[in-house]
Amino acid sequence: MYDVKEIRDDFPILSREVNGKPLVYLDNAATSQKPRRVLDKLAEYYELHNANPHRGVHRLAEEATMMFEESREKVAGFIGAEDSRSVIFTRGTTESINLVAYAWGRRNLREGDEVVLTESEHHSNLVPWQLAARDTGAKLRFIPIRDDGTLDMDEAEKLIGENTKLVSCIHASNVLGTVNPVEALAEMAHANDALMMVDGAQSGPHLPVDVASLGCDFFAASGHKMLGPTGVGFLWGRPEVLDSMEPFLGGGEMIREVHLDHSTWNDLPHKFEAGTMNVAQVVGLGAAVDYLNALGMENIREHEKKLGEYAYRRLSDMEGITIYGPSEDRTGVVSFALPDVHPHDISQLLDEEGVAIRSGHHCCQPLMRRLGVAATARASFYLYNTEEEVDLLMDAIQKAREFFGAFAS
Ligand code: PLP
Repeated sequence: MYDVKEIRDDFPILSREVNGKPLVYLDNAATSQKPRRVLDKLAEYYELHNANPHRGVHRLAEEATMMFEESREKVAGFIGAEDSRSVIFTRGTTESINLVAYAWGRRNLREGDEVVLTESEHHSNLVPWQLAARDTGAKLRFIPIRDDGTLDMDEAEKLIGENTKLVSCIHASNVLGTVNPVEALAEMAHANDALMMVDGAQSGPHLPVDVASLGCDFFAASGHKMLGPTGVGFLWGRPEVLDSMEPFLGGGEMIREVHLDHSTWNDLPHKFEAGTMNVAQVVGLGAAVDYLNALGMENIREHEKKLGEYAYRRLSDMEGITIYGPSEDRTGVVSFALPDVHPHDISQLLDEEGVAIRSGHHCCQPLMRRLGVAATARASFYLYNTEEEVDLLMDAIQKAREFFGAFAS
């Protein structure tokens, strides 16, 4: 049974206070909190096993290698990847997308080619492609969103064509809570011999993910948003595509042979893991995956869906409020704006009540322009949040409105 009270006990930070009030942490789309199991694993790694993996034959090096590679197996299992060599550890989603934009994009894109993105991309899945387009002469095209925050799939059908070389799209929006039909986009991409990349920063932590059924060629996610440490994330790629690619970063471990004037490359996944990796963080990510698996991603999804819907319902009752994104089939991300309080003021006043939400452009400036705003306030839920916390959020918003004299009339 999904016992949220029991789950909360696993997260030490959730019992702290902010401004004399119990912390209500609703900024999970930015980063998640960490369970004791992950924190203990980091300490255990440093206290007992720390060494540089893949390089030494001494006992500690072997243990570090084993723990590092076990994490790879766990991540592969978590996303349904058949071959764990197709999981590359990176610093996170941003680095994973840059890896593809450099190692694949720079060698495969040329003038006349098109990369198809959407209007709702995080800057992480936009700027790397702007740089790749600038260097190669390829063009970027954008699938528009409809007013309810869902993708305009009729336009997608028109945009994805014979010039398309890659479609890259967020799986779930960090602003709108939309879950995009990436399976359908992958089909359109493949029908045109293009590749499909999925930015899974907001889906990996929240939805059951199976890369085979998504039908994508690349999938990127960040460990720190899925209970793991900062500084680690991963890129999954179809092995034959990864094999066909040149390295991203050069250095130790990614080589097979090095001569003064040239080198040859190691096998997957090491070809893409140059230098000493964030080993402890990779090991911590493995512990985070264990924790998520023990709860079950279906159960987590169900819990967050209910919370997101409850928050959406309660917010909808507020006079004058605008809620962005679809009313159904959403994740636990809810962005909103009030006519009488600036988003930054909302989050500042909420902080005084111990409620942590985010306001700003959420690294989605083009999407903000599409919505016609400079910023939104955003509450984002995770597996440890409760309905009582939604109520506390609502009370705090109400208080903020009263503070700004919204009900003076
Ligand atoms: N993509 C999306 C949809 C995100 O929400 C984020 C982070 O908020 C990122 C990419 C970037 O993730 P990171 O900063 O962990 O690389």
